[in-house]
Amino acid sequence: MKTVALVTGASRGLGRELAIGLYRSGHRVIVNYKSQRDNPDGILPGSDFLYIRADVGNVEAVMRMRDTIADQIGRLDVIINNAGITKDGLLINYDEEDWDDVMRVNLKGCYNVIKYLTPIMIESGGGNVINIASRSGLRGNPGQAAYSASKAAIMGMTLSLAKELAPFNIRVNCIIPGYMPTDMGKVSRKALETAKRQSLLGTLTRTEDVFFIIEAILKSNSVTGQILSVDSRL
Ligand code: NAP
Repeated sequence: MKTVALVTGASRGLGRELAIGLYRSGHRVIVNYKSQRDNPDGILPGSDFLYIRADVGNVEAVMRMRDTIADQIGRLDVIINNAGITKDGLLINYDEEDWDDVMRVNLKGCYNVIKYLTPIMIESGGGNVINIASRSGLRGNPGQAAYSASKAAIMGMTLSLAKELAPFNIRVNCIIPGYMPTDMGKVSRKALETAKRQSLLGTLTRTEDVFFIIEAILKSNSVTGQILSVDSRL
């Protein structure tokens, strides 16, 4: 039987690349995304995808996603918690609504997905959870207090859950992608140019490089509770 991987936020950017990579490496892939689309099946090439529209920050939507996966597939081997948003602004002027939104999608989204979907993984005999954090959660960035806090929290959550889920044969790791020229990365031309300048190689991170590292983790069997950077900045 094919192994099954769920990638949250997989309609664009890094998530889309990861979904395609996992598909090519033989997984049945569940593509989660948030926005209404006329033709969600057209998001990715290929037919072996299950598309589930669900806001990961909304617990009822995640519970419906769990029911769909349980009914239509009945197993889950890989969860990539990739869905994320950023709303930048200096904290002193920062709207409470924006703070709540960033925390709800980035952090509570991981909580919802792990809480409601790992039971299917446990029934499948174990698996891998990969959480996508950010350098901003380690180093900080002006205007990104909410985003940085949410991503730092994801790292802490990864460490606790690696300990909690090891007895169920579930490995939990965290990836810190470098700066990628996705829709999110292109929002700030200045930040993008700064990242390029700071890179020892004078380059941004390629989304496919993030997939290569994730693939290596999935192929390993003794790596858990780790936070790995895919970057060329020190
Ligand atoms: P992106 O291009 O903005 O794509 C975001 C994806 O997340 C889209 O598929 C979007 O779906 C989905 N999404 C947003 N809110 C969602 C929600 N509530 N529920 C489900 N899906 C949701 O972002 P990206 O650059 O690929 O970033 C992917 C991850 O990498 C994020 O966690 C981000 O924080 C992290 N990261 C990015 C960079 C970078 O340089 N870009 C660096 C470090 C870390 P719709 O298309 O339906 O809106």
